[in-house]
Amino acid sequence: MSSKDLEISEKIERRRFDNQLRRLRTIDGMDGIEATIEGKRLVNFCSNNYLGLANHPGLVRRSVAFTEDYGTGAAASRLVTGHFDYHAKVEDKLAKALGQESALLFNSGYQANLSILPALADRNAVIYADRACHHSLLQGAKLSGAKLQRYRHNDLIHLEELLKNGDEKARKIIVTETLFSMDGDYSDIDGLIRLSKHCDAWLYIDDAHAFGIDGARGFGCGESRKGIDFLVGGFGKAAGAFGGYVGCSSTMKEYLIQFAPGLIYSTAMPASVVGAIDAALDIIPTMAKERENLKQHAAFLRHQLKTEGFDTGLSASHIIPLILYNEQDALALAAQLEEEGILALAIRPPTVPRGSSRLRISLSALHTPEQIEHLIAAIKKYAKQR
Ligand SMILES: *Cc1c(COP(=O)(O)O)cnc(C)c1O
Repeated sequence: MSSKDLEISEKIERRRFDNQLRRLRTIDGMDGIEATIEGKRLVNFCSNNYLGLANHPGLVRRSVAFTEDYGTGAAASRLVTGHFDYHAKVEDKLAKALGQESALLFNSGYQANLSILPALADRNAVIYADRACHHSLLQGAKLSGAKLQRYRHNDLIHLEELLKNGDEKARKIIVTETLFSMDGDYSDIDGLIRLSKHCDAWLYIDDAHAFGIDGARGFGCGESRKGIDFLVGGFGKAAGAFGGYVGCSSTMKEYLIQFAPGLIYSTAMPASVVGAIDAALDIIPTMAKERENLKQHAAFLRHQLKTEGFDTGLSASHIIPLILYNEQDALALAAQLEEEGILALAIRPPTVPRGSSRLRISLSALHTPEQIEHLIAAIKKYAKQR
């Protein structure tokens, strides 16, 4: 080992010691919601393929068709020669779907948050972020240089207090998620809209996990809601594709084209990805039945787990944390489930706060009732041995 490797490996060993070491596991094949890993077929309960669109023939076909028409790469950033008619068309379609005046694509949700927040805020601004916000929102806030104030999770009274005690003249930006990725609970969008109006703050909302799942036509919690200044999300989860977006006013879009670094300095999204997004936007509104089933399955699973004495936190969605508190227990249950042919990964600090290690179970429309029953039986078996 070189001295450089030695210096670095100290931190790796620290993680190993704390039961926090992560590793990449190779998926050798994916058939719907079943993954083959190390020769074993496992039912996947930790994928974000909530509607099964990642394997949908409609998305595959259009991705191939766009690729045949335009090739595999956009070959330049949007502002150089990478802006094609397929970008413009899909952005129009997306804006209509979201009920926003305009929409702008980013190469990922992560990149959107790291690009938009620094474009909007500088050291004279204050960003008010929910304590449970996704890493990318916090990174975007940090990168902007704005003063960062964290409010207690979903506590709008605390948020109001912070807003009222802040600098009158500073630009104020409220940043939160709609459906929280690790807890599966929702924020109070109406309350946030009211508060942002009342306190003259900008409202920036990340809908990553709700896009495809909530909203009258399935386009997220922010669908057709007036009063959200920046409606951010992504296509990598329920939409079964890849990439990020923001819905906003036309003037804000114009501004972001001038000032959002992730748009200016990164190669435009390729046609293959835009094709898949384009098809997802057509298919999502037709999946009301799948969404309804998903919600029913989630309610059933939550109820069963609670009856068994498990803590599912604040979950009110298809994202269901099974909170085991310490790393060891979370790892032990994950390992035992895997023996039973179930893939449900342990989520540990620093992704979640210390002492809240969990299995993050996420349901998909592809799961059969039998697969969910099997999951419940396997968890019950673990509970009996404890
Ligand atoms: C997953 C996620 C992102 C990142 O989106 P990608 O498109 O995967 O980069 C951003 N914000 C939230 C809340 C997320 O859950």
